[in-house]
Amino acid sequence: MTDKKQNPGGVRRIVIAGGGTAGWMVAAALSKTLGKLLDIRLVESDEIGTVGVGEATIPTLVTFHRLLEINEQEFMAATQATFKLGIGFENWRAQGEDYIHSFGTTGKDHWTAGFQHFWLKGRERKLASDYGDYCLELRASLEGRFAHLPRGGMNYAFHIDATLYAKFLRRFAEGYGVRRIEGKIVDVKVGESSGFIESLKLDSGELIEGDLFIDCTGFRGLLIGNALHVGYEDWSHYLFCDSAVAVQTESVGPAIPYVRSIARDAGWQWRIPLQHRVGNGMVYCSRYLGDEQAKKELLANIEGRPLTEPRVIKFRPGQRRQTWRRNCIAIGLSSGFIEPLESTSIHLIQRGIIRLMQMFPRDGIRQSDIDEYNRQTNHELEHIRDFIVLHYHVTRRQDTPFWRTCRTMDIPDTLRHRLELFRETGRVFRVPNELFAENSWIQVMLGQGIEPQQHHPVADLMGDEELSHFLDGIRSSVEKTVAQLPAHQAYVEQYCKAPPMGAVPG
Ligand SMILES: Cc1cc2nc3c(=O)[nH]c(=O)nc-3n(C[C@H](O)[C@H](O)[C@H](O)COP(=O)(O)OP(=O)(O)OC[C@H]3O[C@@H](n4cnc5c(N)ncnc54)[C@H](O)[C@@H]3O)c2cc1C
Repeated sequence: MTDKKQNPGGVRRIVIAGGGTAGWMVAAALSKTLGKLLDIRLVESDEIGTVGVGEATIPTLVTFHRLLEINEQEFMAATQATFKLGIGFENWRAQGEDYIHSFGTTGKDHWTAGFQHFWLKGRERKLASDYGDYCLELRASLEGRFAHLPRGGMNYAFHIDATLYAKFLRRFAEGYGVRRIEGKIVDVKVGESSGFIESLKLDSGELIEGDLFIDCTGFRGLLIGNALHVGYEDWSHYLFCDSAVAVQTESVGPAIPYVRSIARDAGWQWRIPLQHRVGNGMVYCSRYLGDEQAKKELLANIEGRPLTEPRVIKFRPGQRRQTWRRNCIAIGLSSGFIEPLESTSIHLIQRGIIRLMQMFPRDGIRQSDIDEYNRQTNHELEHIRDFIVLHYHVTRRQDTPFWRTCRTMDIPDTLRHRLELFRETGRVFRVPNELFAENSWIQVMLGQGIEPQQHHPVADLMGDEELSHFLDGIRSSVEKTVAQLPAHQAYVEQYCKAPPMGAVPG
């Protein structure tokens, strides 16, 4: 090839394989943004269905919806959504000890030193209360309150019903011209000389031809893995959990504005409050807990009546070695999965979509775009992986073989460096394009029990009176704002109350 491009005729026919959260998010974004230039078809199989989990999100989804001009109230009512202000971690540092990783900021930074340095000094001088007392979103979580505040004053995400979200996005995407094809993909035709995917063969015998194929077939990875043979980088030496069991239950009280993540003997349990029910699940390591025991343990630790049978889902933590190869891009679970902790998977779908938009190969596929796309994806995932490993590794728990293994495991050098830096100096630096900002790392590192040995000298420039005034001012402003917020449940009911389930369209 002389011009280093494939598809010299251009990329116009897009085929999305799979209609889970990933497939429909891609369809919605592509059709809304570039729909007039493209012919977009999505193939999915009702018989195969979707993974059916993935209900906690992070604030970047708010931005995604803004970009797509999705009406928040309509979206929330259609997906039985509630607001999420963070994640409560119970029993992670030690049995009986809790902390919250909330969205938003804590305190006020100085340009030379983050707020944690002033807080550390304040604590040493017995002038500071809990680190979380200086964060609005964290205090609002604990009090079960929520409201939109002017100028983005409250950082939030959503808890959503995953099945309803895909349906909502389907209506949206079809409104922008996406054509849905029902059918089972039984074969992927790859050109002998080009190595490019030419078409998908359905069980009906129909061939779906395209220029660019988006693999959203979930863990199956039918196109990227089975057809193009892109390998998988396994991270199970860093992330031991490889199984989950999920069950839905009736709500027994008002919805709280955060996810509960409760550490158990061989993993952890989630509780995600929606308007019409609660999503529950247990993530565990199959070396230490069998599926039947996991089901029993989960059912023994739920609050409401189960609405579904517990369902086991197996996964392999890791990432595809390349998420874009030739004319196929894997987005969603086909591209890899770290694990459910910290709810990053839907965000990564969104990142894949944004990257695809930015590098859209309208006039043909170039290897330089492919390389850049893959480079960015890999970097992004590695930082998230480190953040997740942190939760397991830094613990005082020694009560079960699982936690003892986590404590003594080998960790990535990048994480080791961050931990050392924070322990020795209280400093944290966000890497460019990294998802989790300084405040996330600090909340989790302090929450997991790391005690920095020193604070930045700039905090010593404040005398006790000045420091006390500074800290008290922030805390009382947080308290005052939280006291004025309505209860989360009441806010949801007046802002985006969902119709009874039978009345939900689609
Ligand atoms: C236990 C667990 C908990 C999770 N929790 C969260 C969370 O809280 N937050 C978060 O952000 N993420 C979470 N995730 C990840 C999240 O579920 C996924 O990122 C999200 O649902 C996207 O999945 P997907 O669309 O890639 O795959 P799927 O939902 O599996 O969709 C695959 C699609 O491909 C179709 N398909 C497959 N094979 C064929 C075929 N042969 N022919 C035709 N169609 C086919 C299926 O019918 C389906 O439509 C969780 C994942 C797991 C496993």
